[in-house]
Amino acid sequence: MEHKDLFEENWKIFQHIPSLTEEEKKEIEEIRKRHEKVFCRRCDYCQPCSEEIPIQMVLGIRSMVKRMGEGILLKGRHREAIEKGRKCSASEMCKERCPYQLPILDLIEENLRWVDEKIKSSYSMRY
Ligand code: SF4
Repeated sequence: MEHKDLFEENWKIFQHIPSLTEEEKKEIEEIRKRHEKVFCRRCDYCQPCSEEIPIQMVLGIRSMVKRMGEGILLKGRHREAIEKGRKCSASEMCKERCPYQLPILDLIEENLRWVDEKIKSSYSMRY
């Protein structure tokens, strides 16, 4: 939750939790399974990173772009996080520390590839 309105909306829902159909339960379970090994919980237990990569920022870059727009890929702290991500030395210490056993190195690589593609396609559309 990022602001008070969302908290209030959630609170209203939790006070009158509707019962779920079997189909809805199945859908929730599928979503949970799909995210289990890729979703960063932003807990920072993987820190400290020897290369000072803000891992959760790199892993969460797609959702930040969704919320804040592609401009964050070009400058500011997200850009800095992306550049630090490129310096990953693949020590795998982070992976050992992550309580969710996320494949952090693969996810960093995947997200950096996504960032590069995003910048490339935005740039070629404008020029
Ligand atoms: S420990 Fe795992 S879940 Fe927590 S911030 Fe690091 S990568 Fe994300």
